[in-house]
Parts: sequence; structure tokens; C-alpha cells
Amino acid sequence: QPVLAVVGRPNVGKSTLVNRLLGRREAVVQDQPGVTRDRVSYDALWNGRRFTVVDTGGWEPDAKGLQASVASQAEMAMRTADAVLLVVDGKVGATGTEEAVARVLRRSKCPVLLVANKVDDQRGAGDIHDLWSLGLGEPMPMSGLHGRGSGDVLDRVLEALPETPRDSFGASSGPRKVALVGKPNVGKSSLLNQLTGEDRSVVHDVAGTTVDPVDSLVELDNQVWRFVDTAGMRKRVNTASGTEYYAWLRTKAAIEAAEVAIVLIDGSEPITEQDLRVITMVVEAGRALVIAYNKWDLVDDDRRRQLEKEIDRDLIRVRWAERVNVSARTGRSVAKLAPTLRTALESWDTRVPTGRLNGWLNELVAAYPPPARGGRQPKIKFATQAQSRPPTLVLFTTGFLEAGYRRFLERKFRETFGFTGSPVRISVRVRE
Ligand code: GDP
Repeated sequence: QPVLAVVGRPNVGKSTLVNRLLGRREAVVQDQPGVTRDRVSYDALWNGRRFTVVDTGGWEPDAKGLQASVASQAEMAMRTADAVLLVVDGKVGATGTEEAVARVLRRSKCPVLLVANKVDDQRGAGDIHDLWSLGLGEPMPMSGLHGRGSGDVLDRVLEALPETPRDSFGASSGPRKVALVGKPNVGKSSLLNQLTGEDRSVVHDVAGTTVDPVDSLVELDNQVWRFVDTAGMRKRVNTASGTEYYAWLRTKAAIEAAEVAIVLIDGSEPITEQDLRVITMVVEAGRALVIAYNKWDLVDDDRRRQLEKEIDRDLIRVRWAERVNVSARTGRSVAKLAPTLRTALESWDTRVPTGRLNGWLNELVAAYPPPARGGRQPKIKFATQAQSRPPTLVLFTTGFLEAGYRRFLERKFRETFGFTGSPVRISVRVRE
């Protein structure tokens, strides 16, 4: 769904306004420097249309000062969102910071809306004309506190947002691409048949334009997905034929062609080395991951307990992946696949704004500094999420960070920002 990014200086009442737009009060977050928030984006619904509101967070002055940090937030918003809402304190008017951000936003290809917040009464509405000077069109008066004007703002937001979201990273367009993978006989073709059964969905074969693999378009939960390289599965070729080597190549290619992989594991049998290898392939390829335990109709209590143990032993490193217990035979829980795919892809697509990332990291590192090596204490100077798909953090440090500490950072990063279903990469750039 399309994304609206809300940007503004701290204390302009951004959070109140976001909550007002979302129509809920419990989401109130503090607009103070250094306050870690656990939510970055929110789902909004207005006039029957859904969109995502991304709150870019309090802008904290970084090394280059408030204006530079604000400008980089605006850049980020422009690059990732389908429309940007700049919030200004209507009582204060445009400051140098807003002028700096407006300069950035005027170059934006996506629509920019200007909201003057804290305009609580008619009298205040007269004072906002100065904001025309920002060159972002007509300022819309609103009161986050009272709700005054919020309906008009939302109407304008809907006008500005495209029906279909722009793809910010160019990785895909059209239906999201799914690889259904797993070792032979785990039930891939059975599951695909279950998902595409006549009564459940419309299936089309999409002839690959240049190469021979054939994908299937599958409708699940009111969304069309593209299951990649399903030709062999649907024809139900004997999986025992063909060399194992070929099967692996094909699995690898399917994973690479996809954005998210469902790794199917036979829940009724012990987890094998082959299962783990498929999971490793997905993680190494940097794709989002859902783990589905199939043949659940054959799983009794004993087996279930045993499986939990196997998972604890073998799959701890991908505990961030959601798991679904399904039966391709009975159709049990296959409906849960679509929501988990969505969650995983959402994480995979997410980009945490630099200001927020550093606010979080500074607090964390102050409380848990990286261990010293060779008598020297590495300092983490700055972090940025250089990429999504998969989310990739780059840390600029003065020294080497141990693997254990990196894992700790990853775990804390996930605790704070989520990222269920997506691998997270951390790369460290050492600069003296
Ligand atoms: P693939 O090689 O991964 O495509 O696996 P298949 O779909 O061909 O399934 C292998 C075998 O497992 C077949 O005999 C299926 O009937 C059986 N099977 C698949 N899914 C289930 C399930 O959920 N429950 C049970 N009991 N059997 C299943």
C-alpha cells in the first residue's frame, strides 16, 4: 500500500497529528530527542483506502547540526514514500529549519503537502499565510489537539497518494514474488495445489518472457502473488528423477528470483541437514523467510514436543522467522501463509530513518559499550540503514566489533524495530 511520510521538527506536534490522522490515541509517542520508539510505521484507513503512515521521528541535531539532519530526513522521506507531509508549528511559522527542508522537498518528485499544526481556532488560521513562502503550495491549517481540519488533510492525502505505491528500490513491481522451496517430498506440489485449488483461487501461468521457468499467479487473501518457478511442481514431475545437483541449482535460482521464500519442512519427521541448507540459502540470499511445517495432520503430541526441541537446537539463528504449521493434505492453516508473507515482506522493505537509528544506538551503546580489544575501546560513531531488501545497517566505528557484540546489536535492533521474517545485515566500517 502507498506510503505517506510525515516529517517535521521536534515539538511541532507531529505525533499528536499522526495519532489524529490515525484516529487513535494509544499510539501517542513522544517527540523528544533520545526517546526510543518501538513503532516506525502505522496503518491508516480513510474513506476505504489503506495507506501506511511513516513517522520519521524526532530530528536530533547530529554532528552536522539540526538543519543537516532534518534535510537528510527529508531526503529519506522523499526516496521512500509516495507522498510527504511536512508539519510546521502554525504558531511559530517557518524557521530556518523549515526553509532548509523545503529546499529539499521542492526538488521532490512525489507530492508534498504542507500542514500548519496547532491552529486551534479561526484566528490562528489567519496567521499561516507566511507559510506560502516555503514554496510548497497552500498551507493547510489543522489542530492535532482538537482534530480541527484533519478530515481535509486526509482528503488531500488521498488525492496525493497514488493508487498503487511506487517501488522505492526498484527491486520489483507487480505481484510480490514468492519461492516455495524445500527438500523433495516435503509437499511443495501438494501445497501449491492446495493453494491453487479450483475453489480457492484463480491461477494463471505466466510464461517467462525469456527463459523457460514458468511462474504461477496465485490469489491468496485478496492479494495476487507470483510463485516463481513452479512449472515442475505443477506438472508433478517425479522429484526423484533429475540429479540432486540440478534440484539445488533450481532451488537457489528460485530463491534468488523471489523476494520472500516459504521453506517447507516435513513436520512429521526429524529436521534434516537438507532442511537447514535450504534455510541457509534463503538467509544468505538475503530474502525474507517464512518457515512452514507441513504434514501437520500426521503430527501428534510426542512429535510436536520433539519438533520444538529440534527447532531450539537447529533453528535458533532464524528465530526471527515466523512459523506456520500447515497440512497440504487437509488445508489446515494454509490461510495463515498470506499474512505471514506480508509481515515478512513489510520488514524486508522497511528502512529505519537515520535520526531514529542513531538515537536508539547512542542510548544502547552508552548502556552496553562494545568490548575493548587489545586495550582499545572501539567507538561507534554513526549508523545508517544503507539499504532495505534486506535491511542492511552500516556502522561507522573506530575499531573492530566482535561477532558476539554484532549479534547483540542485531537482537536489540530487532527488539526495538521489529523486522519479523526478514534477515538483517550489519556491516562495520572501521575509520580511525
Ligand atoms: P514435493 O516433492 O515437495 O513437491 O512433495 P509432494 O507434494 O509431491 O508430496 C510428497 C508426498 O507427501 C506425497 O505423497 C503427498 O501426498 C504427501 N503429502 C504432502 N503434503 C502432505 C500433508 O500435509 N499431509 C500428509 N499426510 N501428506 C502430505
